Amino acid sequence: MSGPPSRPNAPVVRIRMTDRDVVERSAALLDRAVTPIRPRQAHYKPPFITQLRGAEAVDLMIAMRPVLGPERTAQIDRVLARWSPRGRRSRPKAPRFPVLDGIDGSTSRDPRALSWLAGLLEGEGTFSLTCDSYPVISLNMCDGSVVRIAAKLVEARSVALREARRPEWRPTFVAQVGGAHAAEWMKRLRAFMGQRRTEAIDAALSQYHPIRLIDPPLSCVVPGCSAPHRGRGLCHKHYMMWSRDKANGRETRITPLR
Ligand SMILES: [Zn+2]
Repeated sequence: MSGPPSRPNAPVVRIRMTDRDVVERSAALLDRAVTPIRPRQAHYKPPFITQLRGAEAVDLMIAMRPVLGPERTAQIDRVLARWSPRGRRSRPKAPRFPVLDGIDGSTSRDPRALSWLAGLLEGEGTFSLTCDSYPVISLNMCDGSVVRIAAKLVEARSVALREARRPEWRPTFVAQVGGAHAAEWMKRLRAFMGQRRTEAIDAALSQYHPIRLIDPPLSCVVPGCSAPHRGRGLCHKHYMMWSRDKANGRETRITPLR
């Protein structure tokens, strides 16, 4: 955020979340305090904030700008356009935060890319288990370019555009991974996550008992279908059809191999 018009040299970077432990961890990294604030409605969970102001906030914005999506980048550019280090000649300090760059989704072995992904999923991700005991990690955001970088990192098959449920809402972009691949990523990301997401990961992993076919077919076993095998002898489309029937308590139209 820019400072108010009366104080254009008072920019702010603020983290606001209801997950207290996440805000506390961020505050420790930034060396700031955590402040509880009053929820918008009495029955909402109270949010916590931590923030940096002034020159330090600008340092952090410049450091993070290369790894943020277009919306955050535009926010930062608006702040930087108004910011002037005038009157601060007395403190020619070196920037506090190293500039991040080079995270483009092709470098999942880069520990910074893993941290970036964990931070993104802490804010915008979901770790879940379908009723069919299939672990799923999904990311759902308006910012398509950010979702595409994350999708590339986790090797998601595709990024889907989800139409908004109301005309005044914006469409979102969704990336998802499931099954053994999602379980692997949950294990990799677990140490980075806050309490709530760690619990979600543990719940998903504790219920996931993959049974692998000893000799899986190369393609789907549904007569007339030659799509590649995904699981239980079925291709993706037929697996989803079977899994939806099961989830809805219907008699399944497809018979899987197990
Ligand atoms: Zn099929």
